[in-house]
Amino acid sequence: MSALGSNSTHTNYAMAVDIGGTKMAAAVVDLEGKVVQKFATAAVPFSSSGEANALEMVEWIRSIVKDSHFTVDGIGISICGNVDEETGFVPLSANLHWNRVPFGLMVHDALNLPVMAATDVRMAALAEAAWGAARGIKYFAWATIGTGFGGYLFLDGKLYRGFHGYAGNFGHNTWDEYQGVMCGCGKKGCIETFVSGPGIARAGQKTADSAKSGFLHQQTLYGKIDTRAVFLAAERGDPKAQSVLDEAQRITAISLAGLVNILDLQMIVVGGGVAGASPDYVQRLSDKIREYLMTEEAKRDLIVVRESFNNASLIGAACDVFLRNGTLSLLEGSTHE
Ligand SMILES: [Zn+2]
Repeated sequence: MSALGSNSTHTNYAMAVDIGGTKMAAAVVDLEGKVVQKFATAAVPFSSSGEANALEMVEWIRSIVKDSHFTVDGIGISICGNVDEETGFVPLSANLHWNRVPFGLMVHDALNLPVMAATDVRMAALAEAAWGAARGIKYFAWATIGTGFGGYLFLDGKLYRGFHGYAGNFGHNTWDEYQGVMCGCGKKGCIETFVSGPGIARAGQKTADSAKSGFLHQQTLYGKIDTRAVFLAAERGDPKAQSVLDEAQRITAISLAGLVNILDLQMIVVGGGVAGASPDYVQRLSDKIREYLMTEEAKRDLIVVRESFNNASLIGAACDVFLRNGTLSLLEGSTHE
């Protein structure tokens, strides 16, 4: 095991912790990916200077481990931000306002248990590969469409991290730097700014403002247009709202089809709030992606599916513990080539 600490005997339970931008969740997960004990979520504690209070977060994890009915093999931690998965070092997390925080080491020192910390998209991809829709799949992309757009890659039976560990930032390819708005990454007109929840809301607002009638336009009477209002208006048959969603899906499809054309993927697993905002979102996206695929083989074989978990990064954090202590391996019992 590379990461922090090791045990010689295994209980086949892992403590999984998911640290998002505002909330922390924790659960004990078994070797089958099942949650066997769930804990109440907590707000991420922010200090007065604006950054998440790492010491308080370590204390929260310590209290959770103490309250657990299970002896665990280790602690898997999913973090929203860049994380060095070998050391648990967090060079940067925009949401937590962390700059160079050795969080994995802090948790390890406080609890004296093996710790695996990694970025949330990597953990989510792991969950799908081990226990979800991508089980046995050798080449897939995990894509999340929510407040942002991005994901992680699984190539030739392995997670693909890239040279610096930043692979999977396909939402920050540029779509239109002339008409686009500033992106959180510091560039202008990234794909994410067009296809994410905020992107859909922005396009919806623009459309609603210029429309003279229609359900979307009426929504402006109740305040600013949000993503939900656009989906609701489309559901009620407003063609202008539908065209906002169609355009976001077209750009998403071009982006994801580009990945398939480059990497010859077998599957794309799609998660996130936008992808779940209407029941047919993933099916429509799947149809649209095919329009931009190059080969007949890809059009025939590509599988586009909705994510298997509503908390994939939490579940995946446990998976990382089992993978690194050798009690679990990916592609086991594979039925796919
Ligand atoms: Zn960007």
